[in-house]
Amino acid sequence: MESAEVFDVTTVEFETVIGLEVHAQLLTHSKAFAPVTTEFGQAPNTNVTPLCLGHPGTLPVLNENLVNFIIKMGLATNCQIAPRSIFARKNYFYPDLPKGYQISQFDTPICHDGFVDIELEDGSTKRIRIMRIHMEEDAGKSIHDQDPYHTLIDLNRAGTPLIEIVTQPDISSPAEAYAYLTKIKQIVQYLEICDGNMEEGSLRCDANVSIRPVGQKKLGTRTELKNMNSFRNVEKAIQYEIERQTRLIRSGGKVIQQTLLWDANKLETRQMRSKEEAHDYRYFPEPDIPPVIVTEKMLESLQASLPEMPDVRFKRFKNELKLSDFDAYTLTDSRYMADFFEACFKEAGNAKAVANLIITEVRRVLNDQALDIRDFSVSPARLAGLIKLKEADTISSSAMQSIFNAMLTDDRDAETIARDLNLVQVSDTSFLEPLVDEVLSANPDKVKAFLSGKEGLMGFFVGQVMRNSQGKANPQLVNKMVLDRINALKGE
Ligand code: ADP
Ligand code: MG
Repeated sequence: MESAEVFDVTTVEFETVIGLEVHAQLLTHSKAFAPVTTEFGQAPNTNVTPLCLGHPGTLPVLNENLVNFIIKMGLATNCQIAPRSIFARKNYFYPDLPKGYQISQFDTPICHDGFVDIELEDGSTKRIRIMRIHMEEDAGKSIHDQDPYHTLIDLNRAGTPLIEIVTQPDISSPAEAYAYLTKIKQIVQYLEICDGNMEEGSLRCDANVSIRPVGQKKLGTRTELKNMNSFRNVEKAIQYEIERQTRLIRSGGKVIQQTLLWDANKLETRQMRSKEEAHDYRYFPEPDIPPVIVTEKMLESLQASLPEMPDVRFKRFKNELKLSDFDAYTLTDSRYMADFFEACFKEAGNAKAVANLIITEVRRVLNDQALDIRDFSVSPARLAGLIKLKEADTISSSAMQSIFNAMLTDDRDAETIARDLNLVQVSDTSFLEPLVDEVLSANPDKVKAFLSGKEGLMGFFVGQVMRNSQGKANPQLVNKMVLDRINALKGE
């Protein structure tokens, strides 16, 4: 008998089991099996060929980059790469699928048995096993909201290459699902095979969710959640579903295996019409595309083409550049941010100073203006120039801030702007000494008061020197010089 029966469902603790299926739309220039562009935003039904329209007599030709991209993904997620895999037809009727079938892979996915490590909130990592990654083509789009009486069909998307990444049921909470998706997005972006934008549909996620009594080996009955268009919505939908299943089982009910749609406005899941759910795809091998053969040589050259991946880069930033976990994590979040940081660091030295400026000031500007680091107006070299001025004590911290702001709209180098704004500070002691002496000898009573404990007068002395230097003196240095001078007077 099933072990589940020994549990009292009204009191037992449940644990959550989640497996995710992620579709990533690939950044190939042309479609999976036809020489026509995949460019987004074109007039409806213009990026189509007779093949995309399902005309008889057309033959698919496999896009080489589809194979290259998925192998890169497989390598980056520690998968085995099948030396031989085939395509299969997944048959179903839908108006946006004129062929009547989607070309996919069925029992021989090109990548299988990999893993990614995700970072959890407490700083630990967890390994999520990847069951398979396979290639397929997208269907067209049905548009329901532009005509009051009709559904419109746009076939521009038909045949766009996708990969589907399927995990083992290793994910145990909505937060882990979120962390996993973040990782997948980061990996596809590092590989430059998908833009990773879930809101625009280039990453899509279906979540399989079940619960079971803690201690039970057998998996509970799952439901499949669809229609979440952001990472946060995936998190919310899973949370909702865990609560629904728990209530159901606690009250003596049973979970039915079914597909549920997330409604982001009502914050609840609802059942699909049963017709949409009838799955009998009658898969069979695609007769028009030869098997995909992956040679050792292909694997070697694709492996060599991989960029340094985020986990490795994080460790290097941490161990070699001695950045904090937070800094290294933030900077390696996006490949382009990490590239920007490294370009800047190469010129400026001092990793910590570069990290500080990028993480606080640069990211603030990017956030405010909804910009990508690749579109940031200040080049790494110019930013390095600014950091070097500060490192050499040529400018103060507050001047650095003003110059940084000026640089956003002024393409001259930092030093020129600093001179122009009169922000170059003087750290030359032979220039400052007479100014310090002058202020102290003009205020003997204040010096006395300072010596008898009125330390607040330091601000007065420094302020006077700053004024007499027309604001150019290095205030830290002046502070130190005033103190030294007063101490010397005391000794006299
Ligand atoms: P299907 O063929 O119906 O798509 P798969 O075996 O390929 O089913 O699994 C699809 C996804 O569902 C995988 O991510 C897998 O980890 C997950 N999954 C399977 N069973 C369960 C379960 N009982 N609870 C949660 N997730 C599950
Ligand atoms: Mg599936």
